[in-house]
Amino acid sequence: MGAFELMSQYDYGAVHLRRDRATGLQAIVAIHDRRLGPALGGCRFISYANEEAALTDALRLARGMTYKAALAGIAHGGGKSVIMLPQRQFDRAALFRAFGRFIDDLNGQYITAEDSGTGLGDMEVIRTVTKHVTGVDVSHGGSGDPSPFTALGVRRGIEACVKFALGKDSLKGIHVAVQGVGHVGYYLCKELAAAGASLTVADVDPLKAERAQREFGAKTVNLDAIYSVECDVFAPCALGSALNADTIPKLRCKIVAGAANNQLAVPENGNDLLSRGILYAPDYAINAGGLVNVAQEVVGYDANISRTRTMKIYDTIFEIAERAKRTSSPTHRVADAMVEEILATVPVSTSTPPQKA
Ligand code: NAD
Repeated sequence: MGAFELMSQYDYGAVHLRRDRATGLQAIVAIHDRRLGPALGGCRFISYANEEAALTDALRLARGMTYKAALAGIAHGGGKSVIMLPQRQFDRAALFRAFGRFIDDLNGQYITAEDSGTGLGDMEVIRTVTKHVTGVDVSHGGSGDPSPFTALGVRRGIEACVKFALGKDSLKGIHVAVQGVGHVGYYLCKELAAAGASLTVADVDPLKAERAQREFGAKTVNLDAIYSVECDVFAPCALGSALNADTIPKLRCKIVAGAANNQLAVPENGNDLLSRGILYAPDYAINAGGLVNVAQEVVGYDANISRTRTMKIYDTIFEIAERAKRTSSPTHRVADAMVEEILATVPVSTSTPPQKA
């Protein structure tokens, strides 16, 4: 598919491209929507089969960021960047400096951060050429690892679901099956265990599952068995598409609420969960804690403010559940509708000139 066809499919006004011969940089900055503020979103640095795949990824991810930020009440629009992994030898620092200059030329329309394939070191390089970067070192006003904040938000979302679906004010005695105990899954287990929940976990890395067993008394099961654990909450915290036509019939939970992005393989899977009487906490609504934390870095980092804002994910998830019940709609559609309502209150075109920072 051509670039303009893709832009029209994802409803974009502008996409920015940069090629730098000296460093081998080939980068795309996709800015989906700036009605709520400058676009904020990570930079992905991975190998793509072709340009179409890279552009599609950027467009899809940036749109997701618009939705996540809007629902989290953050004054940012959605953006994302991808750098195509060069197919030749390259100087990583030079490449990220060139990328930083690209960001700087956008005059603050887009603020970057870490994503798959990029890390703190890359953000520190970008920082030398532009101020429009987050995820830098704590010594430079950075916010550090976002995972504990993401986990806090997920715990709050689980509490809202438990209150709504089970009528309970506490997680004491609530059984949660956690799929993937990496960065977020580990901190989520910590939060849940401290609140008195019991845990069953699975991870492709047995050392990570054993750590959860050792530290939080979690039961471990194999990768397939995690779907059919009889529990109150299934928390997908590994990869995307965990909820699909094969896995949904296996679920024996009342609630699905976890950190993973893009949990529904296709949107219709949200309807399948509703038909099975399972309350689903939409992924981008419940996993926004890390974004809330990084957004705080833009205005001056304060962990207490990040924490207070992340705690509000409880209210968002509860409202989604209430609206869904009232309208007999699947929760993922309700969340989308809430975002559309928020964006409709600030009718500014996506092609407005850059805001001077
Ligand atoms: P991570 O890579 O640290 O952890 C993922 C874990 O899942 C790993 O331990 C991995 O071994 C395990 N895993 C992979 N496939 C699995 C499978 N089939 N079954 C069980 N375990 C499996 O990543 P993370 O940073 O913890 O992120 C987890 C998810 O949450 C991702 O989807 C990510 O996009 C999303 N997310 C993360 C953040 C954040 O702050 N890190 C924020 C928002 C969303």
